[in-house]
Amino acid sequence: MIQLHNNHYQIGGIDIDTLCKTYDTPIYVYDTAIIKRQYETLTKAFASCNTRIKFACKALNNINILRYFKQLGAGLDTVSIQEVWVGLKAGFEPHEIIYTPNCVSMEEIELAVQAGVQINIDNLSVLEQFGTKYGSTIPVCIRINPHVMAGGNINISTGHIDSKFGISIYQMRHAERIVNSLKMHVNGLHMHTGSDIVDVDIFLRAADILFEQTQYFKDLEFIDFGSGFKVPYKPDDYYTDMQELGEKLSKRFLEFCKEYGRDLQLSFEPGKFLVSQCGTFLVKVNVLKQTTAAMFVGVDSGLNHLIRPMFYNAYHHITNVSNPGGKERIYTVVGYICETDTFGWDRKLSEVHEGDILAFSNAGAYGNTMASNYNSRFRPAEVMVHEGKHYLIRKRENIDDLLRNQVELEEFK
Ligand SMILES: *Cc1c(COP(=O)(O)O)cnc(C)c1O
Repeated sequence: MIQLHNNHYQIGGIDIDTLCKTYDTPIYVYDTAIIKRQYETLTKAFASCNTRIKFACKALNNINILRYFKQLGAGLDTVSIQEVWVGLKAGFEPHEIIYTPNCVSMEEIELAVQAGVQINIDNLSVLEQFGTKYGSTIPVCIRINPHVMAGGNINISTGHIDSKFGISIYQMRHAERIVNSLKMHVNGLHMHTGSDIVDVDIFLRAADILFEQTQYFKDLEFIDFGSGFKVPYKPDDYYTDMQELGEKLSKRFLEFCKEYGRDLQLSFEPGKFLVSQCGTFLVKVNVLKQTTAAMFVGVDSGLNHLIRPMFYNAYHHITNVSNPGGKERIYTVVGYICETDTFGWDRKLSEVHEGDILAFSNAGAYGNTMASNYNSRFRPAEVMVHEGKHYLIRKRENIDDLLRNQVELEEFK
């Protein structure tokens, strides 16, 4: 998140100029104060319940960020065995990690069992294989699909009828049969209906559907509502009202615990809500290019570094941090990748000159974790701003990184 201070843009009290001079561009910069603010907003909203926040590390996987979450008291939500391994390396205890894979092999799930993490299963066939192998020895969580259409973009909505995620609520009777026959211990129920849910009532409706499914499972210890919280991307954008959700859902959850006859843990696994706003992506303007149709600003990055605009049609607010208070003009900001690579059409930016630094807001979630080497470009560096100091937390790649896993055949040398 950028702030204007004495006519200089800063991140967490550090001048953006200093960051760009120290680390060059393009860079991802993360401000830990924003992470803390978001984490505390969430924990405060659900303070009346026994609440656990597990950070969805696919959004941002730098080990220092994971350790920062550990310090704040969070757990970890992982979707692959590799994320589990990184989480353990970051210092999380196995029981603090939930593993929610989709369409992975039984071998991968066995590796997660060996790692000792909480397993979350989203397929009846896997549930049956798991129960046959482990019976009651390893507890499992079940991911349901509540068939609630929610979320901003079909690619990030996971609770709808055409989705590959979760076990349908209409199959719960079958799940119960498997669980009882194999004497399995189901310790949690989970749902994750997708990202960008703004309507608190949709969330509550999905929650009620989840509560209904608890009738099939008598030994539950936790309910995991996944995520889907939306943060503002544009000025005046919609976002999830966390206080309202906290009040309504906590009340409903506590009532439910009474009905169920046991105090359960309430958990969430946000990615975007916790880290989207902490991140700023800084790039340099290489060229201005006037065409017959537009004034293009070409920067030293592209969809290889920040794919969300091209992939999800996502809006990232862009600021020309080199010219605070300058006259506003209309630009289309594009990357250097050799295919259509647009960050934003028709943006009002304070007058841009070649060499200026542009800042992309909300770049903390699904920014660097989705970066690639397309066009043989190096992936960017990552910088953390923490308590008034800045630290390099991932080096920019170099030519050796690009070639590291290529096998050079003698025949072609
Ligand atoms: C991606 C994902 C999340 C985080 O979603 P956000 O929209 O970033 O909050 C949580 N849980 C699971 C299982 C996920 O796959």
